[in-house]
Amino acid sequence: MNISTGNKIGFLGFLILLSTYGYVVFQLMGVFEEQSIKNEGYYVRSHNLANELRQSSDDLTRMARTFVVTGDAIYEQFYFEIFAIRNGDAPRPIKYPPSYWYTSLTDDRTSAINLGKPVPLQVLMSEMGFLEKEFLLLRKSQNLSDKLVHLERQAFAAMKGRYDDGSGDFTVKGKPDTAFATKLLFSTQYKEEKIAIMKPIQEFLEAVENRMISESIALQAKQEKYFWYIIVLLVISTVIVLVIAVYVRNKIVLPIFLLEHDAHMIAEGNYQVRCKLNVENEIGSLSLSLNEMADHIELDIKELERLATTDGLVGITNRRAFMVSLELEIKRSHRYGVPLSLLMLDVDYFKKFNDTYGHHVGDEVLKLICKVSQTALRENDLMGRIGGEEFAFLLPATNIDSAIIVAERIRTAVESSSLLIDSEELRVTVSIGGTQIIKGNDISAFLKRADIAMYKSKENGRNQTSWL
Ligand code: GH3
Ligand code: MG
Ligand code: MG
Repeated sequence: MNISTGNKIGFLGFLILLSTYGYVVFQLMGVFEEQSIKNEGYYVRSHNLANELRQSSDDLTRMARTFVVTGDAIYEQFYFEIFAIRNGDAPRPIKYPPSYWYTSLTDDRTSAINLGKPVPLQVLMSEMGFLEKEFLLLRKSQNLSDKLVHLERQAFAAMKGRYDDGSGDFTVKGKPDTAFATKLLFSTQYKEEKIAIMKPIQEFLEAVENRMISESIALQAKQEKYFWYIIVLLVISTVIVLVIAVYVRNKIVLPIFLLEHDAHMIAEGNYQVRCKLNVENEIGSLSLSLNEMADHIELDIKELERLATTDGLVGITNRRAFMVSLELEIKRSHRYGVPLSLLMLDVDYFKKFNDTYGHHVGDEVLKLICKVSQTALRENDLMGRIGGEEFAFLLPATNIDSAIIVAERIRTAVESSSLLIDSEELRVTVSIGGTQIIKGNDISAFLKRADIAMYKSKENGRNQTSWL
């Protein structure tokens, strides 16, 4: 996988990460919403239970009073049914709304489909998981309601001519006394006890409501806290991803592109190209190595060029390079009409010199000739070794008169120089031929004319300059 593909995949990954974050936030909000709905449901159920307690107390009173006023035994029966359902002694209707004892006073009230399991109201209350103080309020209310039952039973007994024997049992027989029974259930004591039953129910409802409100506030605060956690986390991770992306772009991707471009340029032969990367990592050191490699290649090529154009013994331009320059100068001279002269130099009796002093001394003489000849040259003149002991001089913008002067300067410089070998001063002379280019001269014609001039010097006795 190349880097730009990796970059694209990384960006896609970042988008997926962001969407995942969004999804998680959405889910979390859902969890809070669910919790809030649960709390509301709990409050409604609590309210219903407290209401049932209140309603059952009211229903008991209503049935008891109706019985003592009407004398109809059905109300006594309803009374005990209500009591039995509340205490879990009779099956609890599946639907048991506050209006039950107003609307369901028919036979289907007791049909099996409408009835559930017998469960005491106390058990239902304890299953709700109320706080201890809340539960105690409901229990207090129910206890007070149970206490009122004694007064109601007393009234029922009076309706049947039975009275309290002092131990709480109605065994004493007498005349049925409806007026007494009615008075009991409408007495101030009865009313006060009724008020006492309602008070803890009211307190319970307020306590649960307060608890629900504070739980809801806490839930909201928690939700807000989590929301900010997520926002902060999102911002931090986005910043981290951006920092990584910028780092990767600036320190890895762009440097690699630049490095690749420069390496490609060098590979194509542009050895002067250098990578100008300013990163302190592995790519930075790779670019330094690439630059070092280019340095070496450039040096090696220069050295190869130098070796290819320089004579190995005397260190001046060799025959091949001299011919290239000569060719160029001939063209320039023809194009611009500037004079161009060529000198040909050959060492006199060099074979004999070699034979006498040895080849290596001959080599030293050749080097000496190079050295002294060059002191006689001008800046634009070029000296080349074109044969064993033959040298040529290219003199641009020079006519034959000036060329002869230069040739003579060279010849006399060589003549007056010497090589000190074993305290013996060895001297050589040279024969020089000079010529100025004429129209239509190509390289070989030009060289040939210079050669002819040089042989003229040889023929005329050597150590002299001739021209053509
Ligand atoms: P002339 O005056 O006619 O030129 O006589 P010469 O002896 O110089 O003539 P020739 O051209 O026959 O001899 C050239 C000699 O130069 C032959 C060879 O021994 C010598 N020579 C050529 N190249 C080198 C070299 O690189 N080093 C040395 N020491 N001698 C060389
Ligand atoms: Mg020769
Ligand atoms: Mg010679």
